Order: sequence, then structure tokens, then C-alpha cells
Amino acid sequence: MVSVNACMKRRLCFWGVLMAITLTVGAQKGVFNRYFTGGTLRVDMVRSGNSHADTLNVVRFVDRDAAWHGSRTNLIDTLNAGQYRVIMTDKRSGNIIWQHTYSSLFAEYAHTEVAKSRAEWFEEVLLMPMPKREVVLTFQRRDAKLVFIDDLVVPFNPRTSSIENRIPLGSVRLLEQHGDPAVKVDVAIVAQGYDTVSEEQLSIDFYRMREMLFSYEPFASRRSDFNLYGVKGNVGAKDGVLGADRYVMTKDVFRLHDVLADAPCDYVVIMVNSSKYGGGAVYNFYATTTLHDMADLVLTHELGHAIGDLADEYVDEDLSYSDIHLRDVEPVEPNISNLKDFGSKWQSMLPKGTSVPSSMPQPDDRRACGPLGVYEGAGYAQHGVYRPTPHCMMRDYAPFCPVCRQRMDSMLDKYVK
Ligand SMILES: [Zn+2]
Repeated sequence: MVSVNACMKRRLCFWGVLMAITLTVGAQKGVFNRYFTGGTLRVDMVRSGNSHADTLNVVRFVDRDAAWHGSRTNLIDTLNAGQYRVIMTDKRSGNIIWQHTYSSLFAEYAHTEVAKSRAEWFEEVLLMPMPKREVVLTFQRRDAKLVFIDDLVVPFNPRTSSIENRIPLGSVRLLEQHGDPAVKVDVAIVAQGYDTVSEEQLSIDFYRMREMLFSYEPFASRRSDFNLYGVKGNVGAKDGVLGADRYVMTKDVFRLHDVLADAPCDYVVIMVNSSKYGGGAVYNFYATTTLHDMADLVLTHELGHAIGDLADEYVDEDLSYSDIHLRDVEPVEPNISNLKDFGSKWQSMLPKGTSVPSSMPQPDDRRACGPLGVYEGAGYAQHGVYRPTPHCMMRDYAPFCPVCRQRMDSMLDKYVK
């Protein structure tokens, strides 16, 4: 039995917590207004090198001439995700005022066989809130131990730095809106290959993408957290990238962002007008899909990479980089482990007494992810890399496993909470 007094105390406690949260959010908004204009800075960069070298250069700063669509309260990305990190430091106070993690196509190229003997260059674009006064941008990459180290330090002064304007190459149409972009997950869909296609067919395909996106969890139950935009433009996406026939990506990232110039875009999806099976994605970079019959599953899987920095949980030892996770350090992706530091992964979620490694359940239902455990065969490798469940969206298009689902939810929460 709970006394009235206890009830009152609990209620007071609840209001106390609520007030603290409200004050914290208010304070964080105050921080945003103190340091940022509300506009968007675009930084165009080129990353070049091979399997031994990784060199980053800033090509130009661009005033995106659009309101900052990202969070105004979650300014510091503290997750140990991605291959790269950028830190914005206010020069006068020395305070870190914005931090963001991401990956790039170069990071994947560097692990291919070709990269051992041939250097290539790749475009990268970062969008960040426009600072009011001088900042220092520190670009970091991971070393051999997967620890972030400084790569390039560049000052930026909104009053004196050379800042370009780019001509937008696409016009944006609203596909679905649930609120202010500052508190929603904004997904921009770029339609490639529609020059000779009717507007009616383009609308049908945008509608199909919209419904595909909300077909599976966690997107279905979080639909009201999203805004969706459509833009038409050819951005150079093609298949056969990095020697994989089904891997659809583009190296024309500057052009991609010229097409996207007017679209709020926490995440970018390139819809390629082709019926061939394929897709691709890189964390906080962009995702692609074709219009193949299985595009709904491909899109959901690729968003696992683009949003969650999730690893593939399948085995493909034909890939030249299939041994990428077989090293002395734990991979950074949350949904695979080589057991070098399993405590940092899903160990705390395991039921008591779970055997490591776990045996496949019998019978095995491929429509569900199955019991949580530690199953060998993941991250392209047959042996030495483990996954949380027998099946998952990141392995064979089953529903996201609990580990992947938790990561996806926490990533999406950053934009809406
Ligand atoms: Zn999973």
C-alpha cells in the first residue's frame, strides 16, 4: 500500500525531474543561440590516399543559405561511432561547441585489395551549424587501435574566411511533414535517372519510397518523428563500386549536395531509377537503393548503416576486406564483436547463463531474429566475429535484432529529444 504522502513525494519528485529536463533543454538552446547563427555551414573536402595513407584537405567553405536542420540541443556527439570525427571549438572560450562522427567511402576503399597499390581521391561534405564567431575545426580519424587522433586543424572565421555560395541544382518538394526540422529526423530523397520520366511516375516512386521507409521498425512506430523531402537530380550513383556488383554509390558528393542545397537533410537517400538489385550506405554520409522488388528491405538495411553505423552481420569471404574485423582491437560497430572487449558490446543484455559462443536454435525461424546470444559468423568473416542473434536486418533482412534496434533508437532520439 502506498501512502498519500509517498504519492505526493513521488509527484513532487516527478515535477522536479520534469523541471530539471526543461531547464536543461532551455539551457542547451541558450548555448546554441550564444554560439550559432541558426544558419548552416557546408564544408567541402577531399580525402585521398591508399591503404597506408589518408590525407584530408578542405576545398572550400560554403554558406548553405538554409536554416540549421539538425538538433539545437544535442550539439555534442559523444558516441564512439564512425571512422571520423569533427570537433568545433569556440576560439575565444576554448569550449567545444559542436561534435559529429561520420564515415566516408574512402574508409571502405582503403580496405580493398586495389588500395594496396593505387591511390584514389574521394569527395566529402560536412554540414554543421554556422558559428557566430571564430572557431577551430579539428578533423580526426582513427589510428590502428581505432582511437581518434587529430588529422587536420583548420580555423574558420565567419567574418574573414572565404565563404562561397553555390547554385542549388534541385528544387525540393515536401513528401511528409510532422514538425519543425530542428526537432525531427529530416530525410531527403534524391531521385536519380528521372530526366525522361513523367512527373506522375516520379510522384509514384517518391510515394513508394515513403511507404517503404515506414514499412519496418523502428521507422513504422516512429513515423511522426520524421520529415521527408524529395529532390530530382542526377548525382552520379552507379553500381559496381569497390568491385562489388550490387554496391551502388557515388563519388560526386559535391554535386549531391548542390542538388540537396535547399533540403533539410539529417540523412540522405539516393533513389536510383533502376530495377536491378542493389544499394549501399555509409554512416552519416548517404544511403542508396534502386527500385528492385526487394528495395523496401534494401532501404531498411542500408539505413542501418547510414543511421546506426551498424555493421553487416552476414558472411562473405569473397570480399577482399572480409578480414577487416579480425584484429587485436574490438570493432567500433555495436552489433558485432571479435570478443576482444565484449564487455563494451551487448554482454550486459545477455540472459544469465548464455553460452559463448551460442548454438543456433532448433528449429530455426528465419522470420524472427531469434534468441539473444553470441553467434559466430558476422562482419563478412565466417570465424572469429560474432553477432547478437541468429538473424537480423543487417544479416538476412529479418527484423532488427535488439542490439541494432537499441542503437537505431538512440541515434534517432538525438534529433527529436
Ligand atoms: Zn543486428
